[in-house]
Amino acid sequence: MTNLGIPLHAPFPARPPLPAVRPSACPGLLRIVQALDGGICRIKLPGGLLTADQAEAVANAAQVYAGEVIEATNRANLQIRGIVGEHGALVEALLTAGLGPRQAAGDDVRNVLLSPAAGLDPQQLLDVRPLAAQLLASLEQEPRLHALSAKFAIQLDGGEALAMLEHHHDVWLSPVIIDGAGWMAFGLAGCPGHDPALGAVPASNAHALVLAVLDAFLVRATAEQHRLRDLLEGTSAAGFVDDLAAQRRDLGIRSVDFHRAPITATPIGVHAQYQPGHSLVVAGAALGRLDAEQLRGAAGLARRLGDGTLRITPWQGLLLPGIASADAATVQLALAALGWLVDPAQPLASLIACTGSSGCAKGLADTKADAHRLAATLLEPAAVHLSGCARSCAAAHVAPATLLAVGNGYYDLYLRDATLPGFGALQATHITVQEAGALLDARSRSNTHD
Ligand code: SF4
Repeated sequence: MTNLGIPLHAPFPARPPLPAVRPSACPGLLRIVQALDGGICRIKLPGGLLTADQAEAVANAAQVYAGEVIEATNRANLQIRGIVGEHGALVEALLTAGLGPRQAAGDDVRNVLLSPAAGLDPQQLLDVRPLAAQLLASLEQEPRLHALSAKFAIQLDGGEALAMLEHHHDVWLSPVIIDGAGWMAFGLAGCPGHDPALGAVPASNAHALVLAVLDAFLVRATAEQHRLRDLLEGTSAAGFVDDLAAQRRDLGIRSVDFHRAPITATPIGVHAQYQPGHSLVVAGAALGRLDAEQLRGAAGLARRLGDGTLRITPWQGLLLPGIASADAATVQLALAALGWLVDPAQPLASLIACTGSSGCAKGLADTKADAHRLAATLLEPAAVHLSGCARSCAAAHVAPATLLAVGNGYYDLYLRDATLPGFGALQATHITVQEAGALLDARSRSNTHD
């Protein structure tokens, strides 16, 4: 007698052991890291992309093996929090959905950030997706590159209007036309939104350039130097590039005067798509969190009204591509009903908060709950980052305003000041979020009246 083809009294086949992974404090798909609220599994997505089927697999895994808390990260990945019990089955479910790396040892290093609109943005100069695929294949499959830190990250900008340009990356590239030909300007230990390029290579050499930078870093870095900024501290990034140019003349590195054009689009909303008659619908996840039903619902919309794919954005939200422009408002309404933020004027759309004391032992305050309180207090939307400690996990950039926890329910308020390091200028100490909201509203009113 059989049930679904499996003999009822036969022993279950032994599950093949999951591949071994190196020790690290960073979560991965194969490495569940414990937090106060349970295990965390981070699913690194190629360019933030996943299919509707894969999104449903993540939603199901979060529902079956965890407390349904899913997070969209500021590196355009997803993670499942609060995992209890059987880790192996959760990992297998995600691997079966095709969300794993090509090689187990390559999971940590598949950190390549693209615009969520890559290949679809009317303003782009270059579709960087083929280059991203080539780079990810190298990172995942070339064992020498698996020595890179799990935080080592590369950004490929295609010149899109919808782009995150403020996140620090070890290597960034951005397209530029020189004498009618396509080149890639590049920088090290910075971001295209703030830093001038250190050089440029013909676009066809971009993959080789990145590998050459990674190899040079691995040869020179000490065991304590995990990021390029560690290696370049106290030395000259331009000198690093000069050495590379001298050693690798085949790369064709040349100097270039390049500053990336600023972005023109606010993330949440409906954006034009390169393909006529189609739109990109971008929504936010409140404080980066969503539940299984939200993700499953978005997957259903992608399948019914989009192209069957979803892209996670570095603003901790979602982009649905391939929506017929006539359907964009319908999709926004459906996303709003699922709990996604579709209006940039919603106060929560401008707030970011780390895990805080509800899930992190280092947290001095429950930043997520306090951010909800702040959103209810604010009369005007304000871009505020609530951080449970100085590590600033939620923000890869300095926010216009930062509330740094100093105790349960109490914060110091900083305002960004480009002339000052860290979070900026200290404005108030040991205040509640209600007091912070009043200060931020007063500041907003006074700026409006200037
Ligand atoms: S910023 Fe501090 S409190 Fe917040 S998640 Fe990171 S380590 Fe924890």
